[in-house]
Amino acid sequence: MNIHEYQAKAVLKEYGAPVAAGVMITSVDEAEAAAKKLPGPLYVVKSQIHAGGRGKGRFKELGEDAKGGVRLAKSVEDVVANAKEMLGHTLVTKQTGPAGKVVNRLYIEDGADIARELYLSLLVDRSTGRVAFVASTEGGMDIETVAEETPDKILTLPIDPLSGVSDADAAKLAEALELEAPAKDEFGQLARILYKAFSDEDMSLLEINPLIVMKDGHLRVLDAKVSFDGNALFRHPEIVELRDKTEEDAKEIEASEHDLAYVALTGDIGCMVNGAGLAMATMDIIKLYGAEPANFLDVGGGASKEKVTAAFKIITADPNVKGILINIFGGIMRCDVIAEGVIAAVKEVGLTVPLVVRLEGTNVALGKKIIEESGLNVIAADDLDDAAKKIVQAVKG
Ligand code: GDP
Ligand code: MG
Repeated sequence: MNIHEYQAKAVLKEYGAPVAAGVMITSVDEAEAAAKKLPGPLYVVKSQIHAGGRGKGRFKELGEDAKGGVRLAKSVEDVVANAKEMLGHTLVTKQTGPAGKVVNRLYIEDGADIARELYLSLLVDRSTGRVAFVASTEGGMDIETVAEETPDKILTLPIDPLSGVSDADAAKLAEALELEAPAKDEFGQLARILYKAFSDEDMSLLEINPLIVMKDGHLRVLDAKVSFDGNALFRHPEIVELRDKTEEDAKEIEASEHDLAYVALTGDIGCMVNGAGLAMATMDIIKLYGAEPANFLDVGGGASKEKVTAAFKIITADPNVKGILINIFGGIMRCDVIAEGVIAAVKEVGLTVPLVVRLEGTNVALGKKIIEESGLNVIAADDLDDAAKKIVQAVKG
């Protein structure tokens, strides 16, 4: 689960991290009062969307020359004018895709005088099975580019879970960041604060890009991106409260309410499969035959008719879907249950695109019979390869 920057900063502030004062607003009316609560004379108006690259992003409705999704303002009036241009408008960044995201919230922050922009993040390092810090002097740009072009400028430092962040760890990181006093002396405490917040809150990513050294020599967390481990959310009801469903894919929310493992993708072939491995293989083979899957969907091992119906509805509600491939290997899952679920869903929502069904395993004969007798316009397939070929052909003509 992801949260907004202003929420991430509030969480980090509770742990004692240095963040600027700021006020979140959802309407232009609130902009003036928000700015007046801050000391000035420099303010920052920041779009709150679940995507990075806002500073270099562009608003769809404004021309290419207009300023981006993070703006400096030099007066209260300037804050209000920028809020007017930004709120309710669609911001397109490297991470939003061409459709962009509507900015419904702004964070008005006390502006900092920046001397240096650094990169610091914490993540779960799979190769060592530890939480690791990633540090680089190249802050403010995407770390993927730094990793590609100048990998020697990135330090990855796994932390021993028993001892936590040691003095030696902190010194190594401070050196990689080329810190000098007073930032150098503050850094150890910040590293421990971030490590504690990451561990205690079950984060899966905590990215500060940039961490800045201000002109006065002190450190400040200028941007914060935090993701939480979905499997640990039950331990953190106050974090769940921070969820902003308007930032999430409506189809994915619907799927999670039915306990379906669904990920929306950008292709045009909807997939309904049981088992994550088979679902991945189905996506691969669709690609092999030259098309793209519209989603990943694992209906699970023992799905009920209701679950299958819900899954089918989610797939057909996607306007990108030009054809559907159902690929079921009945082990615990029974083919007749799938057949009944599909028929129930089609009766409810109709079927306007080609549907290829490949069933195998438990009660396969019964499942096929149910579909045949339903009179549905279904293309039957014998195996996975045959099914993928048939759906790609049906969609591409
Ligand atoms: P992102 O573009 O979504 O990563 O948003 P950031 O929060 O990282 O802001 C983008 C850039 O705006 C930063 O890298 C800074 O250069 C600039 N910026 C943000 N806040 C301030 C501030 O308080 N003062 C100054 N001078 N620049 C800022
Ligand atoms: Mg940033």
